Amino acid sequence: MLLTPRTRNRRIQGALLASAVSVCLVAASAPSPATPLGIGDRLFPHLGNPGYDVKSYDLSFTYPGVNDKPLTAVTTIDAVTSERLERVNLDYTHGTVESVVVNGAPATFKSAGEDLVVTPGEPVPAGGWMRITVRHSSDPVTTGNGDGGWVRTKDGLAMANQADAGHMVFPCNDHPSDKAMFTIHVTAPDGYTAVANGLPTGVDRAGKSTTWTYRTAHPMATELTQVSIGRSSVLHREGPHGLPVRDVVPTKDRELLEPWLKKTPDQIAWMESKVGPYPFETYGLLMAQAQTGFELETQTLSLFEKELFTQPALPKWYVESIMVHELSHQWFGDSVSPRVWSDLWLNEGHATWYEALYAEEKADKPMETRMKAAYRASDSWRAAGGPPAAPKEPAPGQKISIFRPSVYDGAALALYALRQEIGHPTFERLERTWVALHRDGTATTADFERLASDLANRDLSGFFRAWLYGTKTPPMPGHPDWKSDAPKARKGA
Ligand SMILES: [Zn+2]
Repeated sequence: MLLTPRTRNRRIQGALLASAVSVCLVAASAPSPATPLGIGDRLFPHLGNPGYDVKSYDLSFTYPGVNDKPLTAVTTIDAVTSERLERVNLDYTHGTVESVVVNGAPATFKSAGEDLVVTPGEPVPAGGWMRITVRHSSDPVTTGNGDGGWVRTKDGLAMANQADAGHMVFPCNDHPSDKAMFTIHVTAPDGYTAVANGLPTGVDRAGKSTTWTYRTAHPMATELTQVSIGRSSVLHREGPHGLPVRDVVPTKDRELLEPWLKKTPDQIAWMESKVGPYPFETYGLLMAQAQTGFELETQTLSLFEKELFTQPALPKWYVESIMVHELSHQWFGDSVSPRVWSDLWLNEGHATWYEALYAEEKADKPMETRMKAAYRASDSWRAAGGPPAAPKEPAPGQKISIFRPSVYDGAALALYALRQEIGHPTFERLERTWVALHRDGTATTADFERLASDLANRDLSGFFRAWLYGTKTPPMPGHPDWKSDAPKARKGA
């Protein structure tokens, strides 16, 4: 994700307004048989659920042709249980459930916090397959207590589920540590085009509507799901090694946007020259007619605000570097997902790194200048948002507030320090090895530290402790003269 500077204030104002009217769900004081569970993520304690591992999702959405009414949906989850389950918790909120079937038999269900607690007729044994089918609604109208989920665009819908909004769209195990394969079906009235993650596997026209089906060839985290429904065209081109590249754009803007879209194949080739093969079956940009306030690396199809490309005030090099930011997330964040949300710096630090490296190589914007400026601000960022690998909890009602400077340029600064410390060749080998080793998986900060120490052939634990967990920015190797300004006392802090 990358917050769009020009809309940042608006977004924050919106979030503040939303938090003022939101209703806080408080757990009942007496223990209830149906309680929300989580997998212990420090930043999002109720995300994810214990006892099973989802292998695949099959999602079906039927779009009514308007944005203020819920879509009808069917979600089928195939999972393997790791323990005997009398109840199965799914993450799901902001919709109505019509029925739940577990392994072919009807189950009862109840909402608890942001969980849907399912009680099958018979407990599900440990170590077996479990199929859960939920018939439900999926409501694009937000009620003011959440960020993301469906994004209502001028001509339809898109999705922005990072970090914790996948379960506002469909029932799921909404944590990046449980990646799964996805098949997504979208039915929409004539005149609309639907596109989702992965490649198309079928188009069925019936009456006055069409059903599109897409399937991922690689596992994906729920937060990276994308479904675009709009008056759009799908533009095809070829990337490196014949990679199919497809962009989803408003039909009327296809010529206007083409000068930007045609840059993608070279950007992919540039990223491959830095870190190795592109990790997925396709890539492309989704140009949404919406002001989200951010761009988002939804897997194989990154979400961009169309306006980012049509504002003459933004320098060309800057917009291109933002394209590379989201592209590089396909390696860092998507293919290699964070094990817990405190590992977010691994996503954003690297995406910021390649964004800055691209600007250095292609637009003569020196990395050193940017990093020196980051160093100056770093102590303030750490004071406000926590150190890169120990971010502060999201502000109440503003869950995307974990996306703070400390995990962007603050984390890129730690990578810069690492490159200064271990040298360019070892750093570059680390980057390539990291994405190859953890491809299609999840990884932790400790994994990164271990790999860096292995490749540098020395113990870097002290270095990482200071750079990733320290409240003060350590001295920059090779630049002892760099200074960090003292954090200003903050109002109300
Ligand atoms: Zn990002």
